[in-house]
Amino acid sequence: MKIDQDVSWMRDGYPATHWKKPDTDSSVVVCNLSPRHCKIADGHMGQCGVRGNVGGELFTFNYGKSVEATMEYIETEAVNHFRPGARILSLGNIGCMMSCDFCQNWRTSQVRHLDQNDVRRYTPEQIVETCRMLGVGVISWTYNDPVVWHEFVVDTSKLAQKAGIVTLYKSAFYIESDAVEELIDCIDIFSISLKSMDEKFYRKFTGGTHLQPVLNMIRKVHAAGRHLELSQLLITGRNDNEAEIRKTNDWVLEHVGRRVPLHYVGFHPAYLYTNVARTGEDILVRAREMALEAGIRYVYCGNMFRNGVSDTRCPECGTLTVRRYGLTAEPVALDEGGCCTGCGASNDVVQALAGRNAEVALETSPDGYRCEEFTWSAEANSVHIEVGFDQQQVCAVRLERLGTDAVPAQNLATGGVLRRLIASRQTDAETGVRVTLPKAARLQFFPVLDRAHFPTSENLAREMAGYREARAAETVRA
Ligand code: SF4
Repeated sequence: MKIDQDVSWMRDGYPATHWKKPDTDSSVVVCNLSPRHCKIADGHMGQCGVRGNVGGELFTFNYGKSVEATMEYIETEAVNHFRPGARILSLGNIGCMMSCDFCQNWRTSQVRHLDQNDVRRYTPEQIVETCRMLGVGVISWTYNDPVVWHEFVVDTSKLAQKAGIVTLYKSAFYIESDAVEELIDCIDIFSISLKSMDEKFYRKFTGGTHLQPVLNMIRKVHAAGRHLELSQLLITGRNDNEAEIRKTNDWVLEHVGRRVPLHYVGFHPAYLYTNVARTGEDILVRAREMALEAGIRYVYCGNMFRNGVSDTRCPECGTLTVRRYGLTAEPVALDEGGCCTGCGASNDVVQALAGRNAEVALETSPDGYRCEEFTWSAEANSVHIEVGFDQQQVCAVRLERLGTDAVPAQNLATGGVLRRLIASRQTDAETGVRVTLPKAARLQFFPVLDRAHFPTSENLAREMAGYREARAAETVRA
């Protein structure tokens, strides 16, 4: 792929790290950020589509370029053992070192499909200042994959940590060792998505990548003592069988041990793999049972809105210590140190009570308020709420649950670079959410099909269409 000056985000590059020239007078450069080690000719991009050779030097073209910053829950990132229930600022960029045919965020990860209107520009200072202003304690590097955003992630994470903000890295982790060492110094939480335990799966379905480098880097992070959680998307017809699940459980037990939380996550049909159904709930539940029976202490079903499949129970006495539903969590029997209040055993939960979020006041608006409602459906049990407003001000938004009184209303704040918030179903009885916001503010709903899915207006229309077709096909087969 050539660097194209007609594409606005390709006009300004930023000096990249982790590259070399094969010999001193070569105009070709080799990128060493991911194990692909792309050899890149002058004027061209590497395989990720965002790192390119300009005059014999490597530049990154996505520095500071992001999709809309979004306030979500830490559980959105398959992180259940660090500040349960905490609000996080999620940031995704553009491009990816992989090209999975089932990608859940293909509209931003595969740059040939990127709509330039979805690209925002942020500085490290703006991101940290927004967290400070809104009282958000965690920044999450997520959605497409942060590997190809390396320089911006490192710069911003260092600044965030100096400001007392925790950093979270959600990745498929196809990355080289030197870059991981830099991350270990500035990232607090690693949530790694292991696609499969089968080398052939990586080669065939992820764009020709390999399994072993991913496993090596997971072990490196674990050995460094950073907080680690692992997840695996169970993809219909690909890796959703007991033999595959057993291989994953065995590797986890042998190489990182029974205390590292493991998430088996449901898949929704997306990108080039749409002629199948979502992962069956019975498969997710069975995978969890198998992992628990094998001896892994904390195992969760992801992308399931059902009671009892993502709770934490004390591994010693069985007490329910953190109650979860979908993406939301509430510690109910943990002390500050993450120990069970019933028997005192460690539940391996870091900063267990620090995820409680401060309530903000719904200030009087001179224009008054208006309400809009979003209804949950089989496809979408969460929604991104995008609020248009003057970014200099904090804009408070009230969320009320429809169909139940069990969940109290919440006020949340947007401001700084933050205009999107996630709302997610919290009980079986709920039918939707009512949003109250100042009359003058614009509002747009983006249904979220699964966690860590960043909905853009265009991919949503295509994915929903693909999903409905797949469901119709399943119904006919049944
Ligand atoms: S980060 Fe991009 S350019 Fe660098 S090796 Fe990986 S795919 Fe190639």
